[in-house]
Amino acid sequence: MLIPINETMKKIPLSTHSRAEFIDITSHVNSALKKQGVNEGICHVFVPHTTAAVTINENADPSVRKDIINELDRMVPWNGHYSHLEGNSAAHIKATLVGSSVSVPVSCGELALGTWQGIYFCEFDGPRHREVFVHIIKSE
Ligand code: ZN
Repeated sequence: MLIPINETMKKIPLSTHSRAEFIDITSHVNSALKKQGVNEGICHVFVPHTTAAVTINENADPSVRKDIINELDRMVPWNGHYSHLEGNSAAHIKATLVGSSVSVPVSCGELALGTWQGIYFCEFDGPRHREVFVHIIKSE
């Protein structure tokens, strides 16, 4: 589902189902691009949350996503020695490590992703209702 915000920006609402989860949002981002009909430009994908992120990685073997989630857990354990009283510091740290936005070039009306690349919403403190903003900037 896509919610129009303005002429160039759309919102993708998402529901996550576990504490840590990667959701492939490539098809949603692609629909935002198709709706706008831009041929050349930049597609900017932004996550407005402090315990979630967005990344681009392999879309073929789901074990890659699993490995990333597991390795981030090993690097930043949920029960570490943190100061933040809400108890979700690990999720905040992972969100900062992965990042809150990605940009994909748009060429000939298509996202110029590599064959094995997909765009993933990264949940680190679910389950929650989340949103992603897709902003398509025309360059021609
Ligand atoms: Zn917090």
